[in-house]
Amino acid sequence: MSLKLFLVTLFISGSLGNPFWSRPQYQTDDYYTYEEIQEYLKGLAGSYGNRVKLTDIGKTHQDRNLTTITISNGDGRRGKNVIFIDAGIHGREWITHTSALNIIDQLVVNFEANKELLKDYDWVILPLVNADGYTYSRSGKVFTDEAINCGALNSKDHDIKCWRKNLRPRRNGCVGTDINRNFGYAWGKGDSSPYSCSITYKGPYKFSEPESQALQKVLLDLVSSRRGILYLTLHSALAEILYPWSSKRINAKNYKEHKEVAQAGVDAIRNAKLKSSSNYKVLPAHKLYLTGGSTSDYAYKIGFPLSLIWELPAKRGNLKFEFHPPTKLIKELVDETWIAMRAMAKKVIQKYPNRKKSIGLVKNKL
Ligand SMILES: [Zn+2]
Repeated sequence: MSLKLFLVTLFISGSLGNPFWSRPQYQTDDYYTYEEIQEYLKGLAGSYGNRVKLTDIGKTHQDRNLTTITISNGDGRRGKNVIFIDAGIHGREWITHTSALNIIDQLVVNFEANKELLKDYDWVILPLVNADGYTYSRSGKVFTDEAINCGALNSKDHDIKCWRKNLRPRRNGCVGTDINRNFGYAWGKGDSSPYSCSITYKGPYKFSEPESQALQKVLLDLVSSRRGILYLTLHSALAEILYPWSSKRINAKNYKEHKEVAQAGVDAIRNAKLKSSSNYKVLPAHKLYLTGGSTSDYAYKIGFPLSLIWELPAKRGNLKFEFHPPTKLIKELVDETWIAMRAMAKKVIQKYPNRKKSIGLVKNKL
């Protein structure tokens, strides 16, 4: 092939699969639906096949795919440490999914600027755990940029938009289990309900839900292969970064390390001197409330040395939006989250540059 022809071919093909004009662009003008998220992920895999791999890890109760994206730098080195992130365990926490998509965009599309974060680490991200609950939460009346107070439900439509659990029906007619109360460590303790109508229903038994089972398997795989370093779960809306334990009133053994990582994110936001920014607090999760069956305690217990719950903010200035920030704020919120995420990841990589020598995997049935 002549050089000219080669360059034309390269231009048309984008050299990586899809031509560059059809590569997916992460948009902040609105929240993505489940279908749009899946399409976005597939588009990235098509365009950046040497650095992106999708894995269907299971299905929701209503048969939606649970898809992780594994992002690498494409050097082919196997067995790197992993930062694992999930989002959207609670249906109504819309800002979490889109924040996860922006993190993906930064690592895949904006690779050149962030490639040091992928030199010795792979990232595995599950951007939408509770795909059913989220889809349901979008199914009522469209509240265009209207703040919804989920603590004071006053109509069926508010109730829909504030949906938290998954969508598996229970025998008594109530629907849904709180996936973040269904994990196998300290199941049923604290703020976790045995009543299936409650919004914090723990489920009939540990890991009873298909979404919990799928996530559990990924976490166990990452620990048994000695790759899982940071487990990070995105929630909203408190503007807090929380570290273990959730289920007992003691701090994780390496709580100082957790605090250092979280504080790196908080400092990065402060140093960025944004026009408007969140005032994050860093604290042990049990100070918020005591609860068992959470994903973060489980991940820490099985052997992730770092496990953080990231509660994204509920307000901007005087505007309190809780779980549903107005769409015009999506861009500045996800940008802020990325500033913190990058700093936190750098701290994690600095603290854990090498693969773990030994693991604390708990083999019994958690
Ligand atoms: Zn949540």
